[in-house]
Amino acid sequence: MKKLADINNDFAQWYQDILTEAELVDQSPVKGCFVLRPYAYSIWENIQKILDKKIKQTGTQNAYFPLLIPESFLKKEAKHVQGFSPELAVVTHAGGNKLEEPLVIRPTSETMIYYMFSRWIKSWRDLPLKINQWANVVRWEMRTRPFLRTTEFLWQEGHTAHVSQQEAIEFAQSILNLYKDFVENYLAIPVIAGKKSDSERFAGADITMTIEGLMQDGKALQLCTSHVLAHSFSNAFEIQFQDKDNNLSSPYCTSWGATTRLIGALIMSHGDQNGLIMPPKIAPIQVVIVPIYKTEEDKNIVLLKASEIAKKLENKNISVLLDSDDQETPGAKFFKWEIKGVPVRLEIGPKDIQNNQVVLVNRLEQDKAKKKTFVSIDNLEKEVENLLENIQQELFKQAKNRLEKNINKAEKLVDFVKNLEDKNGAYKVGWCGSSECEAKLKEHKASIRCLLDTKENKACFFCSKSSTTDIIVAKAY
Ligand SMILES: [Zn+2]
Repeated sequence: MKKLADINNDFAQWYQDILTEAELVDQSPVKGCFVLRPYAYSIWENIQKILDKKIKQTGTQNAYFPLLIPESFLKKEAKHVQGFSPELAVVTHAGGNKLEEPLVIRPTSETMIYYMFSRWIKSWRDLPLKINQWANVVRWEMRTRPFLRTTEFLWQEGHTAHVSQQEAIEFAQSILNLYKDFVENYLAIPVIAGKKSDSERFAGADITMTIEGLMQDGKALQLCTSHVLAHSFSNAFEIQFQDKDNNLSSPYCTSWGATTRLIGALIMSHGDQNGLIMPPKIAPIQVVIVPIYKTEEDKNIVLLKASEIAKKLENKNISVLLDSDDQETPGAKFFKWEIKGVPVRLEIGPKDIQNNQVVLVNRLEQDKAKKKTFVSIDNLEKEVENLLENIQQELFKQAKNRLEKNINKAEKLVDFVKNLEDKNGAYKVGWCGSSECEAKLKEHKASIRCLLDTKENKACFFCSKSSTTDIIVAKAY
């Protein structure tokens, strides 16, 4: 294994190194399409498990829709087709013949799902209709980076239809809150929530709400979005229902998604010079047990005790891996599991067994004196549970401190542009609402990440007009 690039001086290379050394992804023969290796996929499975439960608690049901969509469907909603056209992969031939109508590989499923909604929604009694699917999508990207921007990626996409606009807005907002809760409390990534500007909005949406994280290099990452589509797709697909007064009405729709990008966010929020640090609540392996022995006789004693301990912890719903591989030295194992970010390492040798104790090593703790603790085997479960909980909280606290320190108060672009270009970071400024002022940010590779509810700044960051809302400006992935 090689040493990771310096996280402070070459963050981009450090990210690439982690992807390889922690065995997260591999290149496939198709440009921009990456293979998720088992460790990365198990992180995704944990994300799915928790999010799926939360989504179902909102009364949303899972379903599955086809990968291929008639090209004409995409064209039904003008903004939607305009937004997605450059990224489409299109099937023109199949079964040895040219197709009469080309089929698009879904870049997102609004068109397919709302077409189906038009068949399923007849009366106000059919509403609200709330559907989610876990699927893959394809968007032909020019520049790709694993997890952050890839040609094919995995996600969930939720689609709902409601009787009133108010209900649709409230539901889209409640989903954004659900995402925020998940990302902050499970992934330990603090976020900024807000609305997207017109130019950054989802193609076909009236409102796009977003949660944005700030990575360790000071660049923002859009984490999850929730859109109010209102009537755009219900008009395009002629979804109509009989309301309570027997009039024909169009439902108000929402769509919302979370993707494998969240794994990229985990890496860039919590990694350090030694590798990943997995928040315990999402970690595929929460505790790795490394047995330490020299003789064959000790090996038997240590492995027996170690598997006893593993069982005890598993009974407390802690996910444990006993690394009894004979081919590797304990030192090599420490290194390997550190890179993969397993939050707690448990070391056990013959002497420890004599003393009825084990060593717990905290992946997050940088202070050498505090990193290792000896704990009695008698109250091991409690000690491990407490340590996992502490790591979860401490990880969030550290990320939150960093976020707060990196949100700079500023007034005019000229004053903060040098800092933005050299050091990245987020800037909370005022905005007049004009797209001309917004476009100025592009010249510095930055953008409006979101509009906030506050109005602390009096003037626009660029022109002399007064501000209508505070915004967060940053460079983004
Ligand atoms: Zn302005």
